[in-house]
Amino acid sequence: MNFGEGEQMGGVGSGLLRHLDRRPLTTDLLPLDVRALAHLVDFRISCDATCTWTVQGKVVGSAVMKVGAGVLVLSYQFVRSENERSKVTASVPLVWSRCTLGGERPWFLCPAVGCGRRVAILYCGANLLCRRCLGLAYPSQREAAPARAHRRATRIRQRIEGRGGNVGGAIPKKPKGMHRATFYRLLVEHHRRMTLYFTGAIKHLEVLSRRIESMEGRLN
Ligand SMILES: [Zn+2]
Repeated sequence: MNFGEGEQMGGVGSGLLRHLDRRPLTTDLLPLDVRALAHLVDFRISCDATCTWTVQGKVVGSAVMKVGAGVLVLSYQFVRSENERSKVTASVPLVWSRCTLGGERPWFLCPAVGCGRRVAILYCGANLLCRRCLGLAYPSQREAAPARAHRRATRIRQRIEGRGGNVGGAIPKKPKGMHRATFYRLLVEHHRRMTLYFTGAIKHLEVLSRRIESMEGRLN
């Protein structure tokens, strides 16, 4: 098998396979990171503060907060659409955990009813909640599973072939200095990922063919 061609096919295939995850992304909302806030305010004492979010030096959001008795109260503007904004005020409980190297670190408890997860980041949406409660996806999760399988297989191939090994040959050549067990484990993993990729590509092409056939039928 020639993986040079495989690469090219992967490029086309991954374009075909981009079934996007339609969930909003963590990057669509302003994040409130307890670790960053802990540098600005002392959560142990009562205080008021203002925090702002900037992107490339431009302010993109701001919030007013009050801290006291283990609770953070945050007020911010949520932009629903170009002409619609609403003010959100939320109370978030704070808890502390011990660090292995000494000291303590603060956490938020997600204020959603029935959640209460201990999290480092809450997102300023229509409510101030954790990633799961807002149903947000990480940008990397938008990548379709077959495309992800292909990308991971490529990474394994680069790891082996970059060290003088051979993945595509009938009798694979083990790179110098790589343990035999590691080499075999990586090969199996590579073939498993490529199988996932090809299976996904075949399914996708079948769906496309059926769609084209039905279009053809309508034309006749
Ligand atoms: Zn939550």
